[in-house]
Amino acid sequence: MSLGRVLLGEREIQDRVRKLGEEISRDYAGCELLLVGVLKGAFIFLADLARCLTIPVRLDFITAASYGESMRSSEKVVILKDLGIDLKDRHVLLVEDIIDTGLTIDMLLGNLAGRNPASLKTCALLDKPDRRMVDVKADYVGFVVPDEYVVGYGLDYQDNYRCLKDIYVLGS
Ligand code: 5GP
Repeated sequence: MSLGRVLLGEREIQDRVRKLGEEISRDYAGCELLLVGVLKGAFIFLADLARCLTIPVRLDFITAASYGESMRSSEKVVILKDLGIDLKDRHVLLVEDIIDTGLTIDMLLGNLAGRNPASLKTCALLDKPDRRMVDVKADYVGFVVPDEYVVGYGLDYQDNYRCLKDIYVLGS
């Protein structure tokens, strides 16, 4: 598979991440925030977002994987690598690369909510609402994107293209 057109350029992405950082810093003023990145796709977004925050921040990462047929809501999402930090009484922001069917974030939210955080919200760089199977909405969204497969800025195709600075639609 080759790269198609640029959907979001580096400058546009960086401007939006800075704005998200300002908004999140305002909303959590006076608090310490735990950013939970969903690996691997969110690692670049999380690194940039964390450096745009002006509040005290801790970081941790979680890895989820889905099994079954990805086009069906019977697909099962499981945690492959869990957090090292106890969430109890912490303000937690779950950071995702993209929300597509919504199954991954829905499962992770349910799981993390059971660990008694002081608060739990979500931030997704990209939101692809056309393919949603469960009714989830991120609290902070970078960009709403059309139903196309995208790569770059952390997002992969078979583990390629993650380190591109722009976000591309995957070609054929
Ligand atoms: P969901 O559970 O919401 O369907 O999907 C979440 C995961 O699917 C994302 O974290 C991402 O890893 C993958 N995904 C969904 N859409 C895309 C896409 O357009 N490009 C890439 N690279 N990954 C995607």
